[in-house]
Amino acid sequence: MSSKQQQLVVILGTGGTIAGRAESADDNVGYTAAQLGVEQLVAAVPALASRRLEAHQLAQLDSKDMDFATWQLLARCVAQHLSRPEVGGVVITHGTDTLEETAYFLQRVLAPVKPVVITAAMRPATSLVPDGPQNLLDAVCVANDRYASGVLVAFGGSVFDAEQVRKVHSYRVDAFAAADGARLGLVEEGEVRWLLRTRLPREAIGLARIERDAEQWPRVQIVMNHVGADGSIVHALVAQGLDGIVVAGTGNGTVSTGMEAALREAQSRGVRVLRSTRCDAGPVMDLPGALPSAGSLSPVKARIELQLELLV
Ligand code: ASP
Repeated sequence: MSSKQQQLVVILGTGGTIAGRAESADDNVGYTAAQLGVEQLVAAVPALASRRLEAHQLAQLDSKDMDFATWQLLARCVAQHLSRPEVGGVVITHGTDTLEETAYFLQRVLAPVKPVVITAAMRPATSLVPDGPQNLLDAVCVANDRYASGVLVAFGGSVFDAEQVRKVHSYRVDAFAAADGARLGLVEEGEVRWLLRTRLPREAIGLARIERDAEQWPRVQIVMNHVGADGSIVHALVAQGLDGIVVAGTGNGTVSTGMEAALREAQSRGVRVLRSTRCDAGPVMDLPGALPSAGSLSPVKARIELQLELLV
Protein backbone atom coordinates (compact mmCIF):
# COMPACT_ATOMS: atom_id res chain seq x y z
CA MET A 1 0.00 0.00 0.00
CA SER A 2 1.47 3.40 -0.96
CA SER A 3 1.62 6.33 1.47
CA LYS A 4 -1.08 8.02 -0.63
CA GLN A 5 -3.38 5.07 -0.04
CA GLN A 6 -3.08 5.51 3.72
CA GLN A 7 -4.12 9.13 3.65
CA LEU A 8 -7.37 10.37 5.09
CA VAL A 9 -10.44 10.57 2.88
CA VAL A 10 -13.07 13.17 3.80
CA ILE A 11 -16.64 12.29 2.81
CA LEU A 12 -19.05 15.21 2.37
CA GLY A 13 -22.76 14.36 2.30
CA THR A 14 -25.17 16.49 0.28
CA GLY A 15 -28.24 14.22 0.06
CA GLY A 16 -29.65 12.53 -3.05
CA THR A 17 -31.15 9.11 -3.61
CA ILE A 18 -28.08 7.48 -2.10
CA ALA A 19 -29.45 8.88 1.19
CA GLY A 20 -33.09 8.23 0.23
CA ARG A 21 -35.73 6.12 1.96
CA ALA A 22 -38.83 4.36 0.63
CA GLU A 23 -41.68 2.69 2.53
CA SER A 24 -40.88 -0.72 1.10
CA ALA A 25 -37.75 -2.46 -0.16
CA ASP A 26 -39.26 -3.13 -3.60
CA ASP A 27 -39.94 0.53 -4.24
CA ASN A 28 -37.12 2.13 -6.23
CA VAL A 29 -39.01 5.20 -7.43
CA GLY A 30 -41.54 6.28 -4.78
CA TYR A 31 -38.90 7.26 -2.23
CA THR A 32 -37.85 10.50 -0.61
CA ALA A 33 -34.29 11.56 -1.36
CA ALA A 34 -31.90 13.01 1.24
CA GLN A 35 -33.12 11.28 4.41
CA LEU A 36 -30.07 9.46 5.83
CA GLY A 37 -27.03 11.23 7.20
CA VAL A 38 -23.62 10.65 5.67
CA GLU A 39 -22.49 8.78 8.83
CA GLN A 40 -25.29 6.27 8.23
CA LEU A 41 -24.20 5.82 4.62
CA VAL A 42 -20.66 5.06 5.76
CA ALA A 43 -21.87 2.71 8.50
CA ALA A 44 -23.81 0.69 5.90
CA VAL A 45 -20.56 -0.32 4.19
CA PRO A 46 -18.61 -2.70 6.48
CA ALA A 47 -15.55 -2.52 4.21
CA LEU A 48 -15.20 1.17 5.06
CA ALA A 49 -14.71 0.44 8.78
CA SER A 50 -10.98 -0.16 8.30
CA ARG A 51 -10.42 3.00 6.25
CA ARG A 52 -9.16 6.35 7.48
CA LEU A 53 -12.28 8.41 6.96
CA GLU A 54 -13.95 11.55 8.21
CA ALA A 55 -17.58 12.30 7.32
CA HIS A 56 -19.38 15.65 7.35
CA GLN A 57 -22.93 16.54 6.40
CA LEU A 58 -22.79 19.61 4.20
CA ALA A 59 -26.32 19.73 2.84
CA GLN A 60 -29.34 17.45 2.70
CA LEU A 61 -31.21 17.95 -0.54
CA ASP A 62 -32.58 16.31 -3.63
CA SER A 63 -30.10 17.41 -6.27
CA LYS A 64 -32.89 18.62 -8.56
CA ASP A 65 -32.90 21.52 -6.07
CA MET A 66 -29.13 22.09 -5.98
CA ASP A 67 -28.43 25.81 -5.77
CA PHE A 68 -25.60 28.32 -6.09
CA ALA A 69 -25.32 28.91 -2.32
CA THR A 70 -24.72 25.17 -1.74
CA TRP A 71 -22.17 25.18 -4.57
CA GLN A 72 -20.32 28.03 -2.87
CA LEU A 73 -20.34 26.17 0.45
CA LEU A 74 -19.22 22.95 -1.21
CA ALA A 75 -16.38 24.56 -3.18
CA ARG A 76 -15.03 26.32 -0.10
CA CYS A 77 -15.33 23.23 2.05
CA VAL A 78 -13.65 20.97 -0.52
CA ALA A 79 -10.80 23.47 -0.92
CA GLN A 80 -10.35 23.67 2.84
CA HIS A 81 -10.17 19.88 3.29
CA LEU A 82 -7.85 19.43 0.30
CA SER A 83 -5.46 21.95 1.83
CA ARG A 84 -4.99 19.70 4.88
CA PRO A 85 -1.75 17.73 4.34
CA GLU A 86 -3.18 14.58 5.91
CA VAL A 87 -6.11 14.51 3.47
CA GLY A 88 -5.52 12.44 0.34
CA GLY A 89 -8.86 13.08 -1.29
CA VAL A 90 -12.49 14.07 -0.85
CA VAL A 91 -15.62 12.07 -1.68
CA ILE A 92 -18.96 13.82 -2.18
CA THR A 93 -22.27 11.96 -1.98
CA HIS A 94 -24.80 13.66 -4.25
CA GLY A 95 -28.03 13.12 -6.16
CA THR A 96 -27.71 11.81 -9.69
CA ASP A 97 -29.91 14.45 -11.32
CA THR A 98 -27.43 17.34 -11.31
CA LEU A 99 -24.27 15.49 -10.35
CA GLU A 100 -22.61 16.29 -13.68
CA GLU A 101 -23.19 20.02 -13.14
CA THR A 102 -21.67 20.01 -9.65
CA ALA A 103 -18.72 17.97 -10.95
CA TYR A 104 -18.06 20.43 -13.76
CA PHE A 105 -18.48 23.44 -11.48
CA LEU A 106 -15.99 22.12 -8.92
CA GLN A 107 -13.49 21.14 -11.59
CA ARG A 108 -13.56 24.60 -13.18
CA VAL A 109 -13.42 26.50 -9.90
CA LEU A 110 -10.85 24.35 -8.10
CA ALA A 111 -9.09 22.21 -10.74
CA PRO A 112 -7.74 20.23 -7.77
CA VAL A 113 -4.59 18.14 -7.93
CA LYS A 114 -5.85 15.80 -5.23
CA PRO A 115 -8.91 13.73 -6.21
CA VAL A 116 -12.44 14.88 -5.49
CA VAL A 117 -14.71 11.94 -6.25
CA ILE A 118 -18.45 12.43 -6.56
CA THR A 119 -20.77 9.48 -6.23
CA ALA A 120 -24.49 8.81 -5.96
CA ALA A 121 -27.09 6.08 -6.39
CA MET A 122 -30.11 5.32 -8.55
CA ARG A 123 -31.80 3.27 -5.83
CA PRO A 124 -32.64 4.47 -2.33
CA ALA A 125 -30.78 3.10 0.69
CA THR A 126 -33.89 1.05 1.61
CA SER A 127 -33.89 -0.83 -1.70
CA LEU A 128 -33.70 -4.63 -1.82
CA VAL A 129 -30.45 -4.21 -3.75
CA PRO A 130 -29.19 -0.66 -3.26
CA ASP A 131 -26.37 0.55 -5.49
CA GLY A 132 -25.24 3.30 -3.12
CA PRO A 133 -23.02 1.24 -0.78
CA GLN A 134 -20.92 -0.20 -3.62
CA ASN A 135 -20.68 3.21 -5.30
CA LEU A 136 -19.55 4.80 -2.03
CA LEU A 137 -16.93 2.11 -1.47
CA ASP A 138 -15.71 2.53 -5.06
CA ALA A 139 -15.53 6.31 -4.63
CA VAL A 140 -13.35 5.94 -1.52
CA CYS A 141 -11.09 3.54 -3.41
CA VAL A 142 -10.73 6.05 -6.25
CA ALA A 143 -10.02 8.86 -3.77
CA ASN A 144 -7.22 6.68 -2.35
CA ASP A 145 -5.73 5.78 -5.69
CA ARG A 146 -2.28 7.21 -6.28
CA TYR A 147 -3.06 8.19 -9.89
CA ALA A 148 -6.42 9.84 -9.22
CA SER A 149 -6.53 13.60 -9.65
CA GLY A 150 -9.09 16.32 -10.28
CA VAL A 151 -12.86 16.04 -10.01
CA LEU A 152 -13.98 12.55 -10.92
CA VAL A 153 -17.24 10.65 -10.80
CA ALA A 154 -17.30 7.06 -9.53
CA PHE A 155 -20.52 5.35 -10.50
CA GLY A 156 -21.57 1.85 -11.46
CA GLY A 157 -18.00 0.57 -11.42
CA SER A 158 -16.73 3.27 -13.78
CA VAL A 159 -14.67 6.40 -13.29
CA PHE A 160 -15.62 9.44 -15.34
CA ASP A 161 -14.12 12.84 -16.00
CA ALA A 162 -16.09 15.91 -14.81
CA GLU A 163 -16.20 17.37 -18.30
CA GLN A 164 -17.32 14.23 -20.09
CA VAL A 165 -19.75 12.69 -17.64
CA ARG A 166 -23.49 12.75 -18.32
CA LYS A 167 -26.55 11.11 -16.83
CA VAL A 168 -27.86 9.05 -19.73
CA HIS A 169 -30.56 6.91 -18.18
CA SER A 170 -33.48 7.86 -15.95
CA TYR A 171 -33.86 4.50 -14.19
CA ARG A 172 -31.10 1.94 -14.72
CA VAL A 173 -28.25 1.62 -12.23
CA ASP A 174 -25.66 2.19 -14.98
CA ALA A 175 -27.08 5.65 -15.46
CA PHE A 176 -23.89 7.51 -16.36
CA ALA A 177 -21.71 7.56 -19.42
CA ALA A 178 -18.95 9.67 -20.89
CA ALA A 179 -19.71 11.76 -23.96
CA ASP A 180 -17.70 10.35 -26.86
CA GLY A 181 -17.01 7.27 -24.75
CA ALA A 182 -14.07 8.73 -22.82
CA ARG A 183 -14.47 6.69 -19.63
CA LEU A 184 -11.34 7.10 -17.48
CA GLY A 185 -11.26 3.81 -15.64
CA LEU A 186 -12.99 0.93 -13.94
CA VAL A 187 -13.16 0.03 -10.25
CA GLU A 188 -12.73 -3.68 -9.73
CA GLU A 189 -12.66 -5.16 -6.22
CA GLY A 190 -11.29 -1.96 -4.74
CA GLU A 191 -8.64 -1.42 -7.42
CA VAL A 192 -8.84 1.20 -10.12
CA ARG A 193 -7.90 0.04 -13.62
CA TRP A 194 -7.17 3.23 -15.52
CA LEU A 195 -8.09 3.22 -19.18
CA LEU A 196 -7.26 6.84 -19.96
CA ARG A 197 -4.92 9.08 -18.04
CA THR A 198 -4.56 12.06 -20.29
CA ARG A 199 -6.28 15.18 -19.12
CA LEU A 200 -5.96 18.56 -20.77
CA PRO A 201 -4.62 20.93 -18.13
CA ARG A 202 -7.02 23.79 -17.47
CA GLU A 203 -6.35 26.37 -14.81
CA ALA A 204 -8.62 26.71 -11.80
CA ILE A 205 -10.92 29.70 -11.94
CA GLY A 206 -10.49 30.06 -8.17
CA LEU A 207 -12.79 30.65 -5.22
CA ALA A 208 -12.51 34.46 -5.46
CA ARG A 209 -14.62 34.37 -8.64
CA ILE A 210 -17.58 32.79 -6.85
CA GLU A 211 -17.56 35.09 -3.81
CA ARG A 212 -20.53 37.20 -4.94
CA ASP A 213 -23.74 36.54 -3.00
CA ALA A 214 -25.44 33.54 -4.64
CA GLU A 215 -28.65 35.57 -5.05
CA GLN A 216 -26.73 37.93 -7.31
CA TRP A 217 -25.21 35.35 -9.62
CA PRO A 218 -25.77 35.96 -13.35
CA ARG A 219 -29.00 34.61 -14.74
CA VAL A 220 -28.32 32.25 -17.62
CA GLN A 221 -31.09 30.17 -19.18
CA ILE A 222 -31.09 27.26 -21.62
CA VAL A 223 -33.35 27.14 -24.66
CA MET A 224 -33.63 24.38 -27.26
CA ASN A 225 -33.87 24.37 -31.01
CA HIS A 226 -36.53 22.01 -32.41
CA VAL A 227 -39.00 21.78 -35.24
CA GLY A 228 -41.05 24.96 -35.16
CA ALA A 229 -38.73 26.79 -32.74
CA ASP A 230 -39.53 30.40 -33.58
CA GLY A 231 -37.46 32.26 -30.99
CA SER A 232 -40.48 33.44 -28.99
CA ILE A 233 -39.04 31.86 -25.84
CA VAL A 234 -35.90 33.97 -26.31
CA HIS A 235 -37.98 37.14 -26.66
CA ALA A 236 -39.87 36.24 -23.46
CA LEU A 237 -36.62 35.66 -21.55
CA VAL A 238 -35.06 38.88 -22.77
CA ALA A 239 -38.20 40.78 -21.78
CA GLN A 240 -37.85 39.36 -18.26
CA GLY A 241 -34.20 40.36 -18.13
CA LEU A 242 -31.30 37.92 -18.06
CA ASP A 243 -27.55 37.90 -18.61
CA GLY A 244 -26.95 34.93 -20.84
CA ILE A 245 -28.59 32.25 -22.97
CA VAL A 246 -27.26 28.85 -23.93
CA VAL A 247 -29.01 27.38 -26.92
CA ALA A 248 -29.10 23.60 -27.17
CA GLY A 249 -29.00 23.60 -30.93
CA THR A 250 -29.69 20.76 -33.31
CA GLY A 251 -26.73 18.78 -34.71
CA ASN A 252 -23.66 21.00 -34.96
CA GLY A 253 -25.42 23.68 -32.91
CA THR A 254 -27.76 24.74 -35.69
CA VAL A 255 -30.75 26.94 -34.88
CA SER A 256 -33.85 27.84 -36.89
CA THR A 257 -34.02 31.15 -38.73
CA GLY A 258 -36.45 32.53 -36.15
CA MET A 259 -34.37 31.31 -33.20
CA GLU A 260 -31.21 32.75 -34.76
CA ALA A 261 -32.82 36.16 -35.29
CA ALA A 262 -34.08 36.20 -31.69
CA LEU A 263 -30.66 35.21 -30.32
CA ARG A 264 -28.89 37.88 -32.36
CA GLU A 265 -31.35 40.46 -31.11
CA ALA A 266 -30.67 39.28 -27.54
CA GLN A 267 -26.94 39.67 -28.20
CA SER A 268 -27.47 43.21 -29.44
CA ARG A 269 -29.13 43.96 -26.10
CA GLY A 270 -26.06 42.76 -24.21
CA VAL A 271 -27.15 39.18 -23.49
CA ARG A 272 -24.29 36.68 -23.89
CA VAL A 273 -25.19 33.75 -26.12
CA LEU A 274 -23.46 30.37 -26.39
CA ARG A 275 -24.33 27.65 -28.85
CA SER A 276 -24.26 24.02 -27.66
CA THR A 277 -25.98 20.95 -29.04
CA ARG A 278 -28.89 18.81 -27.96
CA CYS A 279 -26.99 15.76 -29.34
CA ASP A 280 -25.73 13.38 -26.68
CA ALA A 281 -22.10 13.75 -27.71
CA GLY A 282 -19.76 15.63 -29.98
CA PRO A 283 -18.62 19.24 -30.18
CA VAL A 284 -20.15 22.26 -31.85
CA MET A 285 -17.66 23.48 -34.44
CA ASP A 286 -17.10 27.20 -34.66
CA LEU A 287 -18.00 28.69 -38.03
CA PRO A 288 -17.19 32.19 -39.27
CA GLY A 289 -20.05 34.54 -38.49
CA ALA A 290 -21.94 31.95 -36.43
CA LEU A 291 -23.07 32.52 -32.85
CA PRO A 292 -20.24 31.59 -30.41
CA SER A 293 -19.78 27.88 -29.83
CA ALA A 294 -19.60 26.13 -26.44
CA GLY A 295 -17.14 23.59 -27.85
CA SER A 296 -17.79 20.11 -26.53
CA LEU A 297 -19.70 21.22 -23.42
CA SER A 298 -23.23 19.95 -22.96
CA PRO A 299 -25.87 22.67 -22.57
CA VAL A 300 -25.90 22.44 -18.75
CA LYS A 301 -22.11 22.65 -18.55
CA ALA A 302 -21.99 25.47 -21.10
CA ARG A 303 -24.39 27.30 -18.80
CA ILE A 304 -21.99 26.91 -15.86
CA GLU A 305 -19.08 28.09 -18.04
CA LEU A 306 -21.01 31.17 -19.11
CA GLN A 307 -22.08 31.90 -15.57
CA LEU A 308 -18.49 31.70 -14.35
CA GLU A 309 -17.41 34.04 -17.16
CA LEU A 310 -20.18 36.49 -16.33
CA LEU A 311 -19.12 36.47 -12.66
CA VAL A 312 -15.90 38.31 -13.61
N1 ASP B 1 -33.69 13.23 -7.54
C1 ASP B 1 -32.55 12.51 -7.01
C2 ASP B 1 -31.42 13.50 -6.82
O1 ASP B 1 -30.84 13.90 -7.77
C3 ASP B 1 -32.16 11.45 -7.96
C4 ASP B 1 -30.99 10.62 -7.54
O2 ASP B 1 -30.23 10.94 -6.67
O3 ASP B 1 -30.82 9.58 -8.19
O4 ASP B 1 -31.13 13.88 -5.69
